[in-house]
Amino acid sequence: MEIEFDRHISSANVIKDVKDVQVWRGDKSGCFKVNSAYDCLAKYERGPQFDVFKYQWKINAFPDVILTEWRVLLGRMPTRKCLSRKGVVLNTTVCALCQTKEESCQHLFLECKYALCVWSLCFKWIGILFVQQKDILSHFESFHLFQSSNKQNLVWKGVWAAITRCLWEHRNSVVFNQGVVDAEEVFQKTQIKSWLWMKHKAHNFNYSFADWVLNPMSCISSYK
Ligand SMILES: [Zn+2]
Repeated sequence: MEIEFDRHISSANVIKDVKDVQVWRGDKSGCFKVNSAYDCLAKYERGPQFDVFKYQWKINAFPDVILTEWRVLLGRMPTRKCLSRKGVVLNTTVCALCQTKEESCQHLFLECKYALCVWSLCFKWIGILFVQQKDILSHFESFHLFQSSNKQNLVWKGVWAAITRCLWEHRNSVVFNQGVVDAEEVFQKTQIKSWLWMKHKAHNFNYSFADWVLNPMSCISSYK
């Protein structure tokens, strides 16, 4: 922003005897409009991560789930670390699942031994090898099936959304309802949720739950 400001100032022509006026450069008319301000901000947002977010909104899931995913990707879920940083007084900031490390988004969804177990069950289920990524955005981005169409990959991204959503719900059940930590249970709920979302939201997803559980890759690769 400072460099941009400096560039504008250095190219300005100072004209004597002309009264200064305020001009909004974001619109050809020179007048401020909210939509032109949005367009300006959107241009600044278009970094390498822009495509990740663009893709994320297209997942076949319900709006509240997509909103959760957006917050997960931005690292803005109300984890204990996040709440503590905002001044909320807590008894502890350790992870509700493993009780060993600080509960950040990065830890809860990627690095926690229970999260790792759920991801591992998922890759075994689908039958692929996956290299663990260093951060959530890279993890989401590399959750990609090669030689599959965008439509098929959106099904796969839906599984990513289901895992993070189920991990969060499971964490809340442990914190608020004395739930017992169980990675297998999280994984099974992931299979149910991802299938239900596809049945309700995706056009032509006509596979039974048994098909989905027993042959997920064949459901994805034959989905047109
Ligand atoms: Zn943990």
